[in-house]
Formats: sequence, structure tokens, C-alpha cells
Amino acid sequence: MIPLSLCDWPGRPCCVVFLGGCDLRCPTCHNTELAWDMERLPVVPRARLRAFLAGRKRWLSGVTVTGGEPTSAPGLGEILHEISLSGLPIKLDTNGMSPDVVELLLAEKLVAELAVDVKGPFVQYPALTGQATTEDAARRNLSRIFALAEAHPGVFHFRTTLVPALTEDDIAAVRAMPPAGHTLTTQAYKPPRRSHALADSEARRTAGNLVD
Ligand code: SF4
Repeated sequence: MIPLSLCDWPGRPCCVVFLGGCDLRCPTCHNTELAWDMERLPVVPRARLRAFLAGRKRWLSGVTVTGGEPTSAPGLGEILHEISLSGLPIKLDTNGMSPDVVELLLAEKLVAELAVDVKGPFVQYPALTGQATTEDAARRNLSRIFALAEAHPGVFHFRTTLVPALTEDDIAAVRAMPPAGHTLTTQAYKPPRRSHALADSEARRTAGNLVD
């Protein structure tokens, strides 16, 4: 968890809750421990999250839930419900490969905004995701996400990370993918967080203040 972020939810000072696990294997993943090796990272007990939100909510304008891939996390609805009890709105980051989960979260009014990663043109999804999905599956899933975006104006935001494999033509193609009325922002490719996350975990373990 990051107690305060001024960039994860543009316009809203928020805290960031990271959920481990991911259904993709992007070779350029910026958060590999969370995605594939979450057992190595410190766990925030639910009571601590609850106490943190109760104490800080008046300084925050929202909670960003990210990963990894949050829609892969067991008990996601329960976790979001717990956060929503603070009264803070929730933004969820997702790779868009689980439209059923996204649809359910919208129906349950558990998320106020969704930021969806569009990895690249559909044909490049196998390469961009470590062969974890196919072109057809990516097209099918994101098409459903785009339909949900059309049905929920102002809720979805789309973004693409400028990984080295994407050409100028790819980026132009990706910008045309979201439905009318939705823009796609690009973001610079960041190096992995691995060293910072593990250093933090190891420091906490050394200090003996980690509760798993
Ligand atoms: S979807 Fe995100 S968290 Fe999952 S492997 Fe790709 S970059 Fe990493």
C-alpha cells in the first residue's frame, strides 16, 4: 500500500492498494513481484487497512486499487466493499481481460472509475503478454470492455504504456481503438519496481514489524 499518491488518480490525492497476482505475463511488466511472486512481498492485514482509511480519509479523495491484476484477486468484491465503507470512491486499474468481473463491479457500484490498459494492436497481444492470451481473446475481451465504456460514459479511461516493441504505427492504431468519446493516453515505460519492493520487504522483516 502507498499512503498517498498524487499521480495514480489524476486530480485526486489517493492512497494505492496493490493486489497480487496477474493472468498475463508481459515481458515488460513493471511490477513483477506483485504479478507473479507476491508471496515475497509484505501483506497488509485487513484491520490495518481499515484503520488506515478511517484515520486518513479526510486527507484523501479516493483509493486506487491496482496490481498485478486486481480482477484476478480472490475476494475482490469483498475487498472493495471493505474499502468503500470508508466512503472514499475507488478507481480500479485493469488489463481488461476479465470483462465479466468488470461488469459485476459496475453493477454492484463498487468502482467509480476504471483505468484500462490497452497493450497494443490486437495482433500483438500474444507477444506483448508473454503468450498469456491470444489475438482473438484480447479482441473479444476488450471489445466487451469498450461496450461497457459506451454504456457508462465518463467511467472508463484508456491508456497504453510505450513499451519498446510498439512502433509509431502501432500507437496510432491503438489510439483509434477506444469507443467514440473516449481518449487514450500514453505513458512512458518505467523500469521494474522489483528492487524497491524487495528492499522494502526485507527492511520490514529485519525490523520485525511485518505481520503476514
Ligand atoms: S498486465 Fe500488468 S501486472 Fe500483469 S503482467 Fe502485464 S504489466 Fe504486469
